[in-house]
This record gives sequence, C-alpha cells and structure tokens, in this order.
Amino acid sequence: MSIANALACQHQLESVSDTAGLDVSLLLCHVLDRPRSYLYTWPERLLAPAQQAQFCALLRRRRMGEPVAHILGYREFWSLPLQVNAHTLIPRPDTECLVELALSLCQNNEAGRLLDLGTGTGALALALASEWPRWQCWALDRSPEAAALAEQNRHALGLDNVRVAVSDWFTALDANEPFHLIISNPPYIDAQDPHLDQGDVRFEPASALVSPESGLADLRHIVGSSMPYLADNGYLLVEHGYQQASAVRTLFVSAGFVSVETHRDYGGNERMTVGQKVVQAKL
Ligand code: GLN
Repeated sequence: MSIANALACQHQLESVSDTAGLDVSLLLCHVLDRPRSYLYTWPERLLAPAQQAQFCALLRRRRMGEPVAHILGYREFWSLPLQVNAHTLIPRPDTECLVELALSLCQNNEAGRLLDLGTGTGALALALASEWPRWQCWALDRSPEAAALAEQNRHALGLDNVRVAVSDWFTALDANEPFHLIISNPPYIDAQDPHLDQGDVRFEPASALVSPESGLADLRHIVGSSMPYLADNGYLLVEHGYQQASAVRTLFVSAGFVSVETHRDYGGNERMTVGQKVVQAKL
C-alpha cells in the first residue's frame, strides 16, 4: 500500500466524519511519524507491512466512531500538542477564539493573574500561559482525572507559570488575591440536545458537556460568583452555546458587569461573552 492508496481510504470515513480527509492524514502521519507535508511530497512511497497493519487498525477504530484525538492520544490547540483522554472535552478550534480575545483584552498588562475554571486538558490556561510568561495562571477542574491530565500537559510543555488544582469552580480559592482575567469553557449543553448522540461528543464525558437549566446552570454560577475574585478592571470571559448569548449577557449585567459584549467564533456563531468589573469611585 502506498501513501496515496492510504489517503484514498478517506472514502471509508465519509459516513462517520465531516473531516474524513483530515482524519486519514492525521492517522497516517501518526503511523509514519512524519508531518503532513511528507504525505503530499511522497505519495508513491510504500508503507512497511507493520505500518500498513497499524494504519488499518487505526482506520477501523475511526470507522467505529472513536475520535481521532482519542485514537492518537493528543490534539493540537493553539499550536500546543495536548494529551487528551476520555476524562475531558477534546479541545475545539473555536475555543481558540477565546484565546485571541483574551490576548486582545489584556495586551497592555505586562503581568497579571489568570484563572481558568473547568480547565479539562488545560487548553485555555496553557495557551495563555505560553503567550504570557510573566502571568501567574491557575487551572482548576472538579475532576481529579482532568486535573491530572492538565498537570501532565503543563509539565510536558514546561510551563512553570501555571498551577493546576482540583476545585469545584471557586471552592479551592480564597478571594484575597484577585485575578485580572477569569476564563471558562464550562459545560453548557442541554441534556436533551440531539447533538449529544452524534460524532465525537459521544466519547466525551457528560460532566464536561451537559448542564441543567437548558445548559445555563454552570454559566449562571460562574457569572454570579466571579465578582469577588476579580481585580478592579478585570474581565470575565466565557464560552457558551450559539443560542445562549442573550441569556448570558443578562447574567453578566445582573451580576454588575459593564462593557458586556458577545463575540462570534470562526463559524460566525455567537460563542463567547465578556464583561468587565469596574469599581465605582465613592462619591
Ligand atoms: N462546543 C462544544 C460542542 O458543541 C461544547 C463545549 C462545552 O460544552 N463546553 O460540542
């Protein structure tokens, strides 16, 4: 089997994946231990028998629906290779929009304190910590398995400015040292949402996806509890469902945030909302 023959197996994945071509290339790169450019430079090269057997085994797993990120054990986020497993959400490209927005909000802060709530793989905290070496970053998750994975990722990336801990949202924190940015990609999907039965989501833990009250309960808790943990002029930035923007803005305004704004993801969906804490001067 040549590389071109292997890439042509894409058609076997078309019924299970919207990204069949990409999936086949990623599996093949993994088996060959080569970058994607190699596949298109050497299409006529033959796979060794062991490589062919391994490729066919990985392809079979993908045909059964297993996410590529679980088959390979990692996913790239913000150009950082992150280990993933069944205990956390697989980082999504659209979540990189939160990183971009955070960078633009805090571009004048030389150093500060970041809190990532429900960190999962550590994606948001680690991406921002890699951009802000002088910031102190906290990455919290209620799940000990998720926190262990985030810590492994932190260690592998050598990011000494991140502390990972187990915490049910704010419970492990005291409010004495406020944060300049609190960021979160919490569970926000309604338990009845039909998307939960489709694609990669079926292999992710419900605890990272599903929230009561039409998906808004955790967002309500985070937005309603953040103020005491924020520094003056600090920001809260959360990811949410594409139909939740107006409800989330109402939560921000009720909690006393100002400059509340929703931003869109790469697909043009309203995906994240930010608000600022501004302490009014006493008259
Ligand atoms: N955006 C993800 C999805 O649609 C869900 C992420 C989350 O619940 N935080 O699958």
